[in-house]
Amino acid sequence: MALKPLDIFKYLPKTNCKECGYPTCLAFAMQIAIGKADLSQCPYVSEEAKQQLASESAPPIKTITVGNKEKINLGGETVLYRHEKTFYNPPGIGVLITEDMEDAEIENEIKNIVEFKYERVGVVMKGEFIGIQDKGKGRFIELVNKCYQTGKNLILISDNVQNLQQSLDLCKDVKPIIFPNDTKDEILKLVKEFSLPVVVKGENLDELAQKVDKIKNYGIEEIILYPENKNIKEIFKNIVLIRRAAILRRIKNFGFPVLTIPAFLTDNYLEEGIYAGIFIAKYGSIILLSKIRGEILFPLLIERLNIFTDPQRPMTTPEGIYEIGKVNENSPVFVTTNFSLTYFIVSSEIENSKIPAYLLIQDTEGLSVLTAWAADKFNAETIANLVKKTKIGEKVKKKVLIIPGVVAQIYGELEEELPDWKIILGPREASHIPTFLKSVEL
Ligand code: SF4
Repeated sequence: MALKPLDIFKYLPKTNCKECGYPTCLAFAMQIAIGKADLSQCPYVSEEAKQQLASESAPPIKTITVGNKEKINLGGETVLYRHEKTFYNPPGIGVLITEDMEDAEIENEIKNIVEFKYERVGVVMKGEFIGIQDKGKGRFIELVNKCYQTGKNLILISDNVQNLQQSLDLCKDVKPIIFPNDTKDEILKLVKEFSLPVVVKGENLDELAQKVDKIKNYGIEEIILYPENKNIKEIFKNIVLIRRAAILRRIKNFGFPVLTIPAFLTDNYLEEGIYAGIFIAKYGSIILLSKIRGEILFPLLIERLNIFTDPQRPMTTPEGIYEIGKVNENSPVFVTTNFSLTYFIVSSEIENSKIPAYLLIQDTEGLSVLTAWAADKFNAETIANLVKKTKIGEKVKKKVLIIPGVVAQIYGELEEELPDWKIILGPREASHIPTFLKSVEL
């Protein structure tokens, strides 16, 4: 469970000196508890208290980071249900390549996992993993090399120590996950030598827990669980039990991310997609599919985006200057807030107008225009500061700044703040931007 404010408060100096930026130590503790402040903001917390808090606040499910170019965090969850707080680390989705597949099929799947990408509210969604399964056909190293070139995160599924050793000579920098059938000593030695995560499989929870013990005794800390069952009902039950045991009972041997391979549960690709959807909801950390097709991948990525978006934090667009169309020195400048939806609506309406313009986005912590204005986070002073900070004035000759019509109140003040700019009051609704741009004298 996440720490409560009073659990944190007991470690704070209780002097209310305000140096952390909060009026009291208790207010600071409350902000840490909801993830909006960091303990390091208080200069007076003792090292001992820091260590104690770190161990008490460590997530019950270990966070394991893999990859290099496409780094991904697995696990690290603190709650059973998303509505309790949030889920932090979306499961990685990938494809399983096996040595006995045809060359053309392998090429096609590698191409698909690399090329299938979808963008939603500024987030690029794609698959992140390739699992490569050794079937003793002598092509394992060649396949590892091919998949390594993609930059994707790798899962090496093999019991062949020599093959694993040679693969690691090629790809150790992407921190591949080692997935042996059996946790034999030679493989564990390799895992330890290269500090890699290892997958442990077990047909039931007792077997899993015992194997985790063995691996921990080896000094290996990064473990991924693979409950091995032949049907969806059993595997789903075990995954839920693992999560409950880790979060509610703090059983350490179950406090690890979980790997799932729906392709091993069915030969029907549509059914496989449904199982993958179940594991995204509860509680897979990696999901390997037998193939990558848009009609399955796209809904899975959307589901993942929805479940792993923090409901308490609005989606935001980075502050800065955005060019909509082929802008030039005569282009007008719009300004709005960094609530993602606002950005996308305003930018697409400017695009619809076919009149190129700059769009200045101000960081208002994801608040929409009216809410940000009411909270005093989007006003004449903040906009003027943004104009100066981004140096947008150096890009345009005419210096025309269009503000949202709903904040007409700041018009006069903004003229005073930016005397060398012509301030224009834009429409109240973004949908009126194309008509407005055609009728206004810029
Ligand atoms: S800086 Fe530390 S001691 Fe001061 S108010 Fe903040 S938490 Fe309390």
